[in-house]
Amino acid sequence: MRVAIFGGTFDPVHQGHMIIAEQVMGELGLDRVVFVPGGIPPHKEASSVRATAEDRYAMVEAAVETNERFSADRVEVDAGRPMHSVETVEILKTRSPEHEWFFVTGADEVSNLLTWKEPDRLLEQVMMVAATRPGYDLSKLDHLEAGLRNFDRIFPVECTRVDISATGIRRRMLQGKSIRYLVPEKVWEIIAQRRLYEGDGKRTEGEHLKEGVR
Ligand code: ATP
Repeated sequence: MRVAIFGGTFDPVHQGHMIIAEQVMGELGLDRVVFVPGGIPPHKEASSVRATAEDRYAMVEAAVETNERFSADRVEVDAGRPMHSVETVEILKTRSPEHEWFFVTGADEVSNLLTWKEPDRLLEQVMMVAATRPGYDLSKLDHLEAGLRNFDRIFPVECTRVDISATGIRRRMLQGKSIRYLVPEKVWEIIAQRRLYEGDGKRTEGEHLKEGVR
């Protein structure tokens, strides 16, 4: 089987994620996409992650439920410590070495690949799929060629550009605006039931606005 790992903070998982997973699967003839929510993402400030790992996992689990080719994996949530992608990939590959493994990320994240832990080792393990995202053109990946031995293992995939981000969703929540249809319906229900992303007074609005500038 051809299987892709889709890592992210998923704070919360949204329709942008669902669309790139579906379209990358079609473009590359993948059999499955495994969503792997990060417990404590090493590249993000712990304080910038709003929902708990369990809430983020529950939302991902609800989101993948309606697609038989999608699933969620707890490996990073259960680790309870920051995990780098290279480590996650090695664990999943060791579990199922018979599969051909891919790793899906947005082109914006791939453009930072030189700052990831052991990017060349990661690219030896998996073919990296860079999904396009509004505002991040694939030409922004050109600079990676000089820094990576395995640059040819990065495969750009042109996806429908959906201008939805988790940051934007959290901001709308704080402003009391609707996020319905920006996230899968069941995720919207979980957010409402568990009262996620409602203001908690921990940070100022200014800090949230800054977060949106990536
Ligand atoms: P945040 O706004 O909190 O940074 P995010 O919306 O980028 O979150 P992540 O969980 O960090 O969501 O995303 C996981 C992966 O999905 C990343 O590689 C990211 O680039 C990609 N991604 C997220 N939203 C989109 C989108 N709308 N189009 C394409 N890729 C996306």
